[in-house]
Amino acid sequence: MKKICLTFDDGVESHYWAKNLLKDNGLKGTFFITNASLWHHGDKVIELGMNEDRIDFDLLAEFENDGFEIGSHTFSHPNLTEISSDHIVTEICSMNCILQNYGIKNLRSFCYPAYNVDQRVFDIVKQIGFKNARTGYEDRDHGWSRWDFKKPPEEPRPKTTYPTKPEQNRLLIRPKGIFNFIYKYEDFLDDFDSMTDNEVAVFVFHGLKEASLKKDFEKVVSFLKDKKDAESINFGDI
Ligand SMILES: [Zn+2]
Repeated sequence: MKKICLTFDDGVESHYWAKNLLKDNGLKGTFFITNASLWHHGDKVIELGMNEDRIDFDLLAEFENDGFEIGSHTFSHPNLTEISSDHIVTEICSMNCILQNYGIKNLRSFCYPAYNVDQRVFDIVKQIGFKNARTGYEDRDHGWSRWDFKKPPEEPRPKTTYPTKPEQNRLLIRPKGIFNFIYKYEDFLDDFDSMTDNEVAVFVFHGLKEASLKKDFEKVVSFLKDKKDAESINFGDI
């Protein structure tokens, strides 16, 4: 059985729509929430089609009640490799606190903002006690790199040191595909076909307000809902 883990970064309004679509089709997913509003200002983000507000935190408990997972994506989405250790702890713990105050009970997964992680960040995330954490591709945010849970990637992102013990790579889980305007539904199908039996593959989505991204997501959902050889899982269950 292939295991498919759909993850959603940055906690934006369209993720509520995504959650309900997944729910209606019997699928799962993990949503990484930040207090920052990343996608509602500036020409560049409008061009990217992600011009939308942060999700209403009052809705988050409903995600968990519906069987989805809420994970932390820090308070203000900084590059954690560029701030002090105390500041990293504050960024993570304050977001954990907020999520818990909004009724999140099962907080066990973390996502590095903009995929930036190094040994120091890794050690803090481990010490805080997250079970699983997700980063990005080896060296860039798009393309067709592959995630291998057991061995360190051949081309690490700059400044990243990977643990030699495979189980520690739970805190450096890489996506197999990051949906954007380059990586689309067809790429997802290629990735799905290339998966071996029992392989776990993580896929990343951001805002889904833009029509083409929304359409691709709907195609993914309708492809997965009837798959007999694939199971949809939350990130924390990897
Ligand atoms: Zn993010």
